[in-house]
Order: sequence, then C-alpha cells, then structure tokens
Amino acid sequence: MSTGWQDAVDQDLVRNAGARLALFTRGEGAYLWDVDGRRYLDFLGGIAVTSLGHAHPVFVEAVARQAATLTHVSNYFATPPQLDLAARLKTLAGAGPSGRVYFGNSGAEANEAAFKLARLHGGAARPRILALRDAFHGRTMGTLALTGKPAMQEPFGPMVPGVEFLDSTVAALEEAMDDRVAALFVEPIKGEAGVLELPDGYLAAAREITARHGALLIVDEIQTGAGRTGAWFAFQHAGIRPDAITVAKGIGGGFPIGALITFDGASDLFYPGTHGSTFGGNALATATALAVLAEIERAGLLENAVVRGDQVRDAIDAMASPLVAATRGRGLLIGVALRAPVAAEIVTAAQRHGLVVNAANAETVRLAPALTIGDVEVDEFAELFSRALADVAVHTPTLTTEASA
Ligand code: PLP
Repeated sequence: MSTGWQDAVDQDLVRNAGARLALFTRGEGAYLWDVDGRRYLDFLGGIAVTSLGHAHPVFVEAVARQAATLTHVSNYFATPPQLDLAARLKTLAGAGPSGRVYFGNSGAEANEAAFKLARLHGGAARPRILALRDAFHGRTMGTLALTGKPAMQEPFGPMVPGVEFLDSTVAALEEAMDDRVAALFVEPIKGEAGVLELPDGYLAAAREITARHGALLIVDEIQTGAGRTGAWFAFQHAGIRPDAITVAKGIGGGFPIGALITFDGASDLFYPGTHGSTFGGNALATATALAVLAEIERAGLLENAVVRGDQVRDAIDAMASPLVAATRGRGLLIGVALRAPVAAEIVTAAQRHGLVVNAANAETVRLAPALTIGDVEVDEFAELFSRALADVAVHTPTLTTEASA
C-alpha cells in the first residue's frame, strides 16, 4: 500500500490515537476500498455506525436533498426534519407524549446532556451518580468522569466529581443505592469493554431499585441502539421503561448526530438556558437520520440483525478455532472472546485477508457490520475470518497443542 499518507498522519494529526490501519477512499454496501484499490469486507461498520452500509442510496439521497433545501439555521429556530425526528425517536423508544428529545452531534454530547439531566434531578440533595466499572460513555471531561476505566481517566484528573463506580451486579447496586443518588448510568451491553452483556435481570432490577430511591435510570444506547441488537433499543429486550436513553452512532448511519431522549418526569428537568449546541439537531443531520431510520424499518433490518447475527455466530462456532473461547453480544453487536490476548494480531491478519474487524480489547475481537448484510457477506466473512484465525493460531503454539490434546 502507498505509504506517504502515514507520514501525513504522523505529522499533521494530533497524536491522540495510534497508527491508522489503512487509508480508505471509497465505500459501497458492506465493502471498503483503500487508496490502492484493494477491497475489504467491512465487519466493523465504523464501530456500529454505518447501519445501512456505505453510500446507501437512501442515505445519499437524503443528504443531497436536504443539503439542497436547508442545512442549518441555529437553535433559535426549528425545522421540519428536526421536529419529525424528535417525534420518531420518541415513538421508537416508547417514550410516549411526555417524552422529549435533545439533539447533539455525537455520543459524548448525548451523554453530556444526560449528565446535566442527572445534576438537575435533585440538585444538591442528590450529589451521587452511579456508573458501572468498565463501561464506556465517552471521552469529554464529563463523560470521561462517567467512564469506569481508571487508565483513561488518569492523565486528565481531577475528574468532574460525584461519580462512583460499581460492579455490574444487582447486589452491588443494592448496596450502593440511597436517596442521595441522582442517577445510574448503564450500557445494556458494554461494547468497548469487549461486548459484555449485563447479568440476566440486571436492567429490570436496576429499574426497580432506582425507582424505589427516586434516582434516574439512564441507559446508554449509543452502541446498542438503532436496531443493532434486534430491537430498536437494547433496553426494550428487558421490557423496562428508563428515565432517559442516549443515542448516536447508527442513528445517523454515518452522519454525525447524537440525542438524549427523556421519559416521563425526566422530560421536565431542562429549562431554557440550561443546555445547547450550535449544530445539534440541524436540518441536514436530522433529515438524514430520519431517512436512515425509515430504511431500517422498511427493509426489516431489526429482524435481519437477529438472523445474520445468529449466522455469524454459528459460522464462528463451526470454525472450531482453538483461539476462540466463546461469542458474546446480541444481534449484530458481537464479541469474539479469545483464549489468548491476540485480538490485535487477528485484526492485522484479517486486514491482510481483506476483512475489517476490531480489537475491543486484547482478548476480544468486535464485529459490528452494517445491518444490511446478507448471505454473501456472511459467507465471505466466514472464509476470511477463519483464515485470519488460522494464521494467528499457528503462532500461538500452546493453544494449538491444548486444543489438539
Ligand atoms: N457511549 C458508548 C456506549 C459508546 O460506545 C461510545 C462510543 O464508542 C460513546 C458513548 C461515545 O460516543 P462518541 O464517540 O460519538 O462521542
């Protein structure tokens, strides 16, 4: 591959991230092409973002149509797509007439709004906020304070105060909870931590415990939302009614957008002057998200996420790789749990074979492809991923010996 671009990355971009793995110039459906014209099957989807795949005609048409109509007017004014998307998100989330929506431009902004919502709930009488160890809620100072990963927080202390981290057990929540807690933040599946599901019954118990103490239950659906797990939002599998959810990523299908959706009494907490964003909820972003959500529904992509997710998992099981301990997750948010810390090696090997996947951590490969994938993409994934696993397995001799013993 041409290498000049890597010098440009090194010289011109802030060094906040590691080396970039490729220079992609084009995408279509579930495929990406790099600067040398090489094709890759994209099973990461920009980390659960490109729900319709790349350059989907519905997405392209929505962006072009709205860009040619009205892009941005500021939040001194409203626009039809903004109001339509707010109504649509309320409906999809089941928030009902009392629900409300705040728009930002990213997941972190949605969670910043949720953090402020929590502060507005109870004020000084409720200074405590609970969040789960290992959960990820963003990298801005507010959302970093909510993110239970000490190594990420460490260079940036002191953190915004008031946040306490708990193990993901009902017992830990019962023990920590009191009437001074403003909110509990949870990810229904901890994506960045390695696609870790909450224990069975956790969300229902969390709903009951938070309600008993008058605390808000705020569910971060940024990675799990927009149909990825087979429901519009993952909390819906648990049949609960949260006080607020945050969404981003797959809602815009590649167009930057984030939102906080409030339910019931939590909808009355913000008042004029308490929050805002110049770009948040502009006509271009909201028209695009409306079109993406309409296409997810029209094409039956919630059902597809379930069917394809099962196929992908079955295919991985059938590989019987000595490296794979288990698969985790739901629908098309899949974690491949490994028996050795070789996720980065597998990602590199996969890329060599023309497959894009991601290492959520050293022992988990994460898959979050477009919700539109079909038989062809699943079969191709199986072929390419098994080759990548085989490449890495031969360099992991203890595992190979153990498995064949
Ligand atoms: N919350 C969750 C669960 C996420 O997965 C992410 C991003 O990976 C975020 C929040 C932050 O979103 P963003 O990167 O758009 O700020």
